[in-house]
Amino acid sequence: MNRTCFNTDLSIKNVEQKVSLIGWVSKKRNLGSLMFIDLRDRSGIVQVLVNDSINCPDIRNEYVIHVTGTVKKKDVPNKALKTGEIEVVADNIEVINTAKTTPLIIADETDALEDTRLKYRYLDLRRPVMQNYLDVRHRIKMSVHNYLDNLRFIEVETPILTLSTPEGARDYLVPSRIHHGSFYALPQSPQIFKQLLMIGGLERYYQIARCFRDEDLRADRQPDFTQIDIETSFLDQDQFLTMMEGLIAKIFKDTINYEVKLPLRRLPYKQAMDRYGSDKPDTRFGFELHDLKEVFKNTTFEAYQKAEAIKGICVNNVASITSRKVIDNLTLEAKKFGLGGLSILKNENEELTGSFTKFLLEEEKAALIKEFDSHNDDIIIIAAGPYNRVSPLLGALRNQYARQLDLIKPNTFDLLWVIDFPLFERDIESNAITSTHHPFTRPRDEDLKYLDSDPTKILSYAYDIVINGYEAGGGSLRIYDQDIQKKIFEILGLSEEDIKRKFGFFVDAFQYGTPPHAGMAFGLDRLTMILGGTDNIRDVIAFPKNLSAVCPMSGAPAVVDEQQLIDLGIQVVKE
Ligand code: ASP
Repeated sequence: MNRTCFNTDLSIKNVEQKVSLIGWVSKKRNLGSLMFIDLRDRSGIVQVLVNDSINCPDIRNEYVIHVTGTVKKKDVPNKALKTGEIEVVADNIEVINTAKTTPLIIADETDALEDTRLKYRYLDLRRPVMQNYLDVRHRIKMSVHNYLDNLRFIEVETPILTLSTPEGARDYLVPSRIHHGSFYALPQSPQIFKQLLMIGGLERYYQIARCFRDEDLRADRQPDFTQIDIETSFLDQDQFLTMMEGLIAKIFKDTINYEVKLPLRRLPYKQAMDRYGSDKPDTRFGFELHDLKEVFKNTTFEAYQKAEAIKGICVNNVASITSRKVIDNLTLEAKKFGLGGLSILKNENEELTGSFTKFLLEEEKAALIKEFDSHNDDIIIIAAGPYNRVSPLLGALRNQYARQLDLIKPNTFDLLWVIDFPLFERDIESNAITSTHHPFTRPRDEDLKYLDSDPTKILSYAYDIVINGYEAGGGSLRIYDQDIQKKIFEILGLSEEDIKRKFGFFVDAFQYGTPPHAGMAFGLDRLTMILGGTDNIRDVIAFPKNLSAVCPMSGAPAVVDEQQLIDLGIQVVKE
């Protein structure tokens, strides 16, 4: 099988050359004395012309064939193909392997259900669009290796069988056969190890790291996923973010030839929440949130008088298409965020209308029009209540409107840092204090004074990189002082004994000359989604799980043999 080249290496330059090609039959058209075969390999498709002068074996779709022939110029080029100016006139065709009729169409456009695609993933992966996603993924990784290697980073692997790492999700556990009743946890991230590598004097570490989190799945989440994980010593926040911006700019350049303008904007978390109602704002469109406390300072409307926050957005050119049903849906959305409802006003011929106007003073109407610079056909949506419900609700509506009104131009990218996150947050249900990022994040020096009095006031040296409204990565400067680290664990409710048991080895290491260090992790899957142009994380992973965390191809997770359970000392409790 002396293959001379990949299909799409061929062009008009190769006319009259003898070639030997191997690939799959993508399509075949039989015109009596002539037959056309679309031959597909990883690079793409070339047309093969078969005359009845040669002895052609029986050929069907997805057969693997070996073609020898001569490259000829086509009279009428096929613009849809990269190799459309030429075709290969076959002088011999050999079937290397046959194929059953495939359960899905092997082409970019497929109507196969996703579970069928996942069950026959090896066939799904033959679709060029899927191969392109994996190619983008590979090119991102190559770009990372090159950039970081140049800056004297080294890649170090960290254990997969380890102890729990506190990233806030549930762990996947692996029972120990040798120590019954003891479990390894799969790493939620290499966080502790990469910090120990800094204490170990490595100074610049990275790893394309597999991470595991047992969470409810969504369109952009998988139980096992990949991070570009990075840690550095002796850089301050500014130096570190600048270095990481360089990396992201190189990735964009290398994969899609897009110039990212540097430096990236750095938006404090508080402003992101105030203006966009999100810590991962998409700033490619307007409809920013406005604070309306001032507008309503004399309000007679009781709910507004008591509200901690009154905020609104103004969406242009939608009032006339906003039906009763749309308004009801907006109200339902508000309920999901734990708010009673919304006040909705339309601007009809420069006048505000809607049932809510009966609660408005004339001066409030004028002030609203002025605040939003509102014009005919705008809609103004106002929410009032606790700040941490009002802002996210309006943020979500802002995104919905942008999508609905098709305001986002394709192939535009919006990159920014969100910085100064609160160190802690309160769990909405339990009210317990948790780390916004993780417990190793360093509090801002000027906020250390609140450690004892009011830890929720503390802001941190934590940052996220946000691309097109996705959190594409995040990290922080780390605590390198043993006492502060212990204090943070205490605030999080860990007893002295918990700290010893879970993190004793880590806290001990701090005593031996810990360098100031900082790091972050980029989500490789998400970056590939953004650069590959899909909003489904399963498209960018070769063998993903479905939304029920099942692999329809292998059937994992599966029951195991009784003997394996006995060896592990495990008894399964049937529900
Ligand atoms: N370990 C963090 C995460 O997985 C990233 C970091 O702080 O470097 O989100």
